[in-house]
Amino acid sequence: MLRETETKEADKILTILTRTEGKLAVIARGARRRRSRIAAAAQLLVYSEMTLYQKGNWSILDEASTLELFDGVRRDVEFLALGSYFAELTELLTAEDVPSPEILSLLLNALYALGTLHREPEQVKAAFELRLLALSGFEPMLESCAVCGTGMPEEPMLDVVQGVLHCRRCALEGRRGLSMPLCFSSLAAMRHVLRCAPKRLYAFSLPPDALRRMEDASEAFAAAQLERGFRTLDFYKRIRIKETIQMTDTERNNGG
Ligand SMILES: [Zn+2]
Repeated sequence: MLRETETKEADKILTILTRTEGKLAVIARGARRRRSRIAAAAQLLVYSEMTLYQKGNWSILDEASTLELFDGVRRDVEFLALGSYFAELTELLTAEDVPSPEILSLLLNALYALGTLHREPEQVKAAFELRLLALSGFEPMLESCAVCGTGMPEEPMLDVVQGVLHCRRCALEGRRGLSMPLCFSSLAAMRHVLRCAPKRLYAFSLPPDALRRMEDASEAFAAAQLERGFRTLDFYKRIRIKETIQMTDTERNNGG
């Protein structure tokens, strides 16, 4: 489930991503009542098997059994914020009546990687953004420098507006936008994310500074390509800053 809207009485309208019919708006009657049979399935990010029936133009949720609650994501405020960002991006990049089984799998695997496999959130975020954009037709051209053609730029940069790679010293003609600095390792990881089999998506590891470059470049690429910011991403960043400050305080207290 990607998003919920509360409506009259105890109902909710759910925006869900289905395996066969793409994105769908579904009315969940009584889902806000505590004893509702469908309350568990009618929560953000829960993966369920749903039985729907049609009434006029609306799909109504009749029965649901949850397949995966992603408790590990739900219990951690930082992971839940990041998962909400994944849901917002997914909602934007999927459509009604367009089946997107690859995107659904990508989202489920990202939530599993975060909450169950305990992968670093920075890694999951960068890989998810890049792969989702590529699956949605926004694949950056990372094979070689767009100017001189070398496959191994010394100081690689990603032009996030044009979606091309270039060397720092190779100025792009008619350059409009922002270029983010990469390095050998972060570029290799980004190429891996674009080419690998779905199950191998997180099968890479980077030192913290290279991971930071990959994360910054992927996030800037998503924002530039989709030409917008994300409320859920801003919230995630505020939480992360807060946690960093708390950690520093704890270190100081332990040290003193
Ligand atoms: Zn070049």
